[in-house]
Amino acid sequence: MTLLTSAEPLPTTPDWTGAACRGDAHADRWFPDPSESFAYAAGICAGCPIATACGAYAVATRQSGVWGGREYRSGRIAR
Ligand code: SF4
Repeated sequence: MTLLTSAEPLPTTPDWTGAACRGDAHADRWFPDPSESFAYAAGICAGCPIATACGAYAVATRQSGVWGGREYRSGRIAR
């Protein structure tokens, strides 16, 4: 049995260095209110080389917000 420590990355952690959203000036666009469009974030995600891994990470770690071009709430696709 292998125990993970907080110093070890999760097995599903993508290589964020290639993230298309890295350094974007509008980080709040990845956490829209339910009534807000997330087209801005989805458009950036559409050209991201790690979009599939990003979405899988959101599910595995129960994230909320826009990941991989979809919006999640607690790891479930909301829209
Ligand atoms: S898929 Fe979207 S949220 Fe995920 S790293 Fe790429 S640009 Fe960022």
